[in-house]
Amino acid sequence: MIDLRSDTVTKPDKALLKEVLEANLGDDEYGEDPTVNALQEKCSKLFGFEDGLFISSGLMGNQISLLIHNSPGTEVITSSDSHIKNYEHGAAAFLSRVQFREVDHIDGLLNFDSIEQIINKSKIHKPTIRTISIENTHLASGGSIIKYEDIKHLYTLTQSKGLSLHVDGARVLHSILQSKSPYDYGSISDSLTFCFSKALGAPIGSMLLGSKQFIKQAREYRKILGGGMRQVGVIASIANKALDQREAILQDHEKTRLVYESISDKYFCKEILYKGTNMIIFKFSNTKNSNEFIENLKSKNVLAGLIDDKSVRIVFHKDVHINDTKNIIDAINYSSSGE
Ligand SMILES: *Cc1c(COP(=O)(O)O)cnc(C)c1O
Repeated sequence: MIDLRSDTVTKPDKALLKEVLEANLGDDEYGEDPTVNALQEKCSKLFGFEDGLFISSGLMGNQISLLIHNSPGTEVITSSDSHIKNYEHGAAAFLSRVQFREVDHIDGLLNFDSIEQIINKSKIHKPTIRTISIENTHLASGGSIIKYEDIKHLYTLTQSKGLSLHVDGARVLHSILQSKSPYDYGSISDSLTFCFSKALGAPIGSMLLGSKQFIKQAREYRKILGGGMRQVGVIASIANKALDQREAILQDHEKTRLVYESISDKYFCKEILYKGTNMIIFKFSNTKNSNEFIENLKSKNVLAGLIDDKSVRIVFHKDVHINDTKNIIDAINYSSSGE
């Protein structure tokens, strides 16, 4: 089976696992795991932040950020289809007790004028807005890239209004590598989280980046959430090596492009979303067709994922071999005919 349900399905290969045997370990709750400390330092330097915290998941990074940037009853501006709002099991309601204010967007880029209007209208009856949260790449749009300059522009607004800008960068490496844009998110946002466990083969782990004060608080919240760990170098060593191999993401983009361009009938479903990164989303007008599409692909040994009842996605990652692309193309063209 060629598993394209998500880029989280990658497994660490022998070379990655070998890192564990070499890793220096210590108790991270005492701040004494040298491998974790080195990874946190490396990532904060790379992305231009003061400090970093190794955490168990992207969800934890997003939710800790809301706990710090907001207080109960305040608002977070985001897109209606964002991960932080829709795909985190209601964690924001449960933990930071914030509510989301949706703003229109194009490919994840929130409409600047709409945001300004909302902020300026915020008066007696409206909750206080504390944070703007953006997603790069933007999942629901098909993995679209938000330009560095656009985030910078947004940051000038959040700074002038005293708001925080959080970047859910689960796939920010995809965005940076594909658009050849700067890593320096420390200059254009207040907090950034990204995943080692997507596409690169690391089994576990995300990084949360921010100011020294932010990370100090984040460490406390991580503990409260049960995310304090001990000899974490075991997983941080793999994450570190995976990060060093991040250029491989560009090959994933190449495989995705090859497949997208070889789809013979682009009108077999309502819409196909492809934004030049590592995923293709097929939109159907009804549930039956999306389920049939998945079943047909499966009969040709390709696993696709259901995002919602009318959207099917295929996501490329390091465990999809370039030679698999022919199979994938054949499977899609087989499954899309006769609909
Ligand atoms: C995967 C993902 C997350 C959450 O990451 P987990 O490590 O699965 O908790 C957050 N945001 C986006 C856009 C994602 O794709």
